Amino acid sequence: MEVLYKSTRNGEIGVKASEAILKGLSEDGGLFVPDHIPALDKSLQELAGMNYREVAYEVMKLYLTDFTEEELRDCISRAYDSKFDTESVAPLVDADGTYYLELFHGATIAFKDMALSILPHLMTTSARKNQVKNDIVILTATSGDTGKAALAGFAGVEGTKIVVFYPKNGVSPIQEKQMVTQKGDNTYVVGIRGNFDDAQTGVKRIFADKELAGRMEAAGCQFSSANSINIGRLVPQIVYYVYAYAKLLEEGRIREGDAINVAVPTGNFGNILAAFYAKNMGLPIARLICASNENRVLYDFFRTGVYDRNREFVLTSSPSMDILISSNLERLVYRIAGDDAEANALLMQVLNGEGKYEITEEMKAQLGEFYGNYASEQETADTIRTLYERTGYVIDTHTAVASCVYGKYVKETGDARPAVIASTASPFKFTRSVMNAIDMKYNSMTDFELVDELSALAHVAVPKAIEEIRTAPVVHDHVCDRDEMQKTVEEFLGL
Ligand SMILES: *Cc1c(COP(=O)(O)O)cnc(C)c1O
Repeated sequence: MEVLYKSTRNGEIGVKASEAILKGLSEDGGLFVPDHIPALDKSLQELAGMNYREVAYEVMKLYLTDFTEEELRDCISRAYDSKFDTESVAPLVDADGTYYLELFHGATIAFKDMALSILPHLMTTSARKNQVKNDIVILTATSGDTGKAALAGFAGVEGTKIVVFYPKNGVSPIQEKQMVTQKGDNTYVVGIRGNFDDAQTGVKRIFADKELAGRMEAAGCQFSSANSINIGRLVPQIVYYVYAYAKLLEEGRIREGDAINVAVPTGNFGNILAAFYAKNMGLPIARLICASNENRVLYDFFRTGVYDRNREFVLTSSPSMDILISSNLERLVYRIAGDDAEANALLMQVLNGEGKYEITEEMKAQLGEFYGNYASEQETADTIRTLYERTGYVIDTHTAVASCVYGKYVKETGDARPAVIASTASPFKFTRSVMNAIDMKYNSMTDFELVDELSALAHVAVPKAIEEIRTAPVVHDHVCDRDEMQKTVEEFLGL
C-alpha cells in the first residue's frame, strides 16, 4: 500500500516519499509524516535470519513506496558497505546485563552515519525520479555529529552542495576538527556565534524564505535538509531497532514476541521517534525511555505536558544533546493530537511566540509508552566510571546519559525486561570528558594523547576517523553571527 507524506501543519498536502526527501521541510514550515505507519510484513523470525542490508530493505521498502526494488537495494548496498568497520554494521554488546546497540561504526563514529551514509543516495535517486535538474544544496544545522556525517556523505556527490552551521563554542574539539578538515569543493563549514537552537532556527528561516527560493531557482539550485526533519533521515533510523530485536532473537536472548525496552539519549527527538515508529510497525517494544542531559526540556514535557524552552541553555559534556527545541517532537505531538494538523499548527505557533505550549489531558494520556528522565553531569561521569570499573567497557557521554536514565527507570519501576540502549557515539569522539570521568589525572594530557590512552585502556584500536584528523590541515575557518547565516549561504552559492 502506498505511503504518502503529509505536513504536520496542513492536512491536505500529500506527496510521494521521493518528493518529501527532496523538499526536506514542507512549505508551510511543517514536517513530513507518513499518512499511516506501515506494519512489518515479515515475521520477526524471518527477520532474525537477515543481515543489516536485508533488514534495511524490508523496513525501508514499506515507507519509500515510490522507489523501485532495484533503486532501494542499490542505495542500501552503496551505504552499508566497507565504510562501516564491522560486517554487522550495528553490533550489540552485552555489558552488565544490558545490550548496547553500537551505532557508531560508520565513517564519522557517531550514529548519524546510520542515516547519513544512505541519505545522499536517496536524495540523488529522488532527484532523478522527479526529473530535478537543479543542484541540491543541503543546509544543515549541527550540534556536532550531524555536520561531519552529512559532510562525509555528500562530499564529492555530483549535483549537490552542502553547507554546515555549527555552534562555534558548543562542540567537542574532536568534533570541530573533524568538520573543519573536511575536503571537497562542494562543502562549506561555518561556525556561528550562538548555540545549536540558533543554528537550527536560522536554517529553518532560510528554508522558508520564498524570495531567496526564487533566486535559487533562477540560479539552478534548490535547498534540502540533512537534519532529522528530513524523512529520509528518519526512515533509515527505524531499521536498527528492528535489526537489534532480530539479533536478540537470533542469538536466543529473547523469544519471538517478547517485549523489550529501549533507551535513547535524546536531543532533537529523531532517534527515539524512529524507535516509536518501529514500535508502531509491530516491533515488540514495551517502554521508550527518553534520556536527556541537563537540558531537560523533554523530561519536563513528559512529566507535566508543558513544553517550555524558556530556560537557560546548558553546555554539557554531551553536546550533541544540548538542544532546547526538539524539532521531531512535533511529529509526536501531531500523532497524539489524532493526526490533527490544525491542532498541531496552533501549538507550534504558540511555541514560536511564547516559547512554550501545553498539550491537552487527552494527548497526555497517550504518552504512557514513554518514560522521560535526565542525568546530571556528575551522574553521567559516574555512569562511565562505574561501568568501566565493573566490566572494562567504555561508553561515550551521550550513551552514558541513556545508561544512567535507564538505571533510574529500572529502580523506579522494577521493570527488568531485556533492554537495548542506543549507543550513539564512539568514546573516541568525546575523549576528554570520557577519560576525565574515569580519572581526573588525565586532564593534563592533550586531546590526541588522550586518544592513545583510551585505546590502551579500553583495548580498542583508534578508529580510522580519528587517525585521519590527527594531521589533517584545517580548510574551513568561516565564522559568522547568527543573523548573517543567509548572507553567508548566498556568498557561498554566488547569488
Ligand atoms: C545527535 C545525537 C544524539 C541525539 O539524537 P536525536 O536524534 O537528535 O535525539 C545523541 N547522541 C549523539 C552522539 C548524537 O550525535
